[in-house]
Amino acid sequence: MWLWRSGEEGAGKVSEGGQQAFIGMGSNLGDRRSFLEKASQEIGNHPQVRVIRLSSLYETEPVGYLDQGWFLNQVMEIETTLKPEELLSFLQGIEDKLGRKRLIRWGPRVIDLDILLYGKLTIESPELIIPHPRMYERGFVMIPLQEIAPDLIHPDGKTSREHLEMLKKTEKMEKVRLFQG
Ligand code: AMP
Repeated sequence: MWLWRSGEEGAGKVSEGGQQAFIGMGSNLGDRRSFLEKASQEIGNHPQVRVIRLSSLYETEPVGYLDQGWFLNQVMEIETTLKPEELLSFLQGIEDKLGRKRLIRWGPRVIDLDILLYGKLTIESPELIIPHPRMYERGFVMIPLQEIAPDLIHPDGKTSREHLEMLKKTEKMEKVRLFQG
């Protein structure tokens, strides 16, 4: 796990009214690690976003569309004064800037950025669903999330740890391994 050190760029940036949010990141094309690093940097550069924690990197077999390379995944905790819709369009701007092409649903991508959680909010609009609709079925989200926030209480009252235990019991979890690269 990686912690943003105080005194570095970003420290003290977000003040009153900042919400805790979690972002899921994934890449399976090109230099995957560098795309994740670039995305983290872009996110942290926003004046209304402070990066709190980054999980380790995890390597994951693809789900949905199987004829593609393994993903590299990571979860980030932020504090932000952006509203959920503003955060979504900011993240989509980063996906576009880093060159993501939306060709195949669940297909290969240089970077995928999802809002997993935003405070205790639940949202269901055509553009935005929070908690992210598929996060509780995905080991590549729940394993890094439980690494950095095991005791976090989700909108349904359960912790990350409890959610991961439930997912493991379904035995439907895709293969996820710590990335040693
Ligand atoms: P994808 O191509 O899988 O990244 O899906 C992107 C679409 O999912 C966008 O059109 C978003 O409006 C929508 N979406 C719904 N909920 C979320 C969320 N929590 N985080 C990111 N995108 C979301």
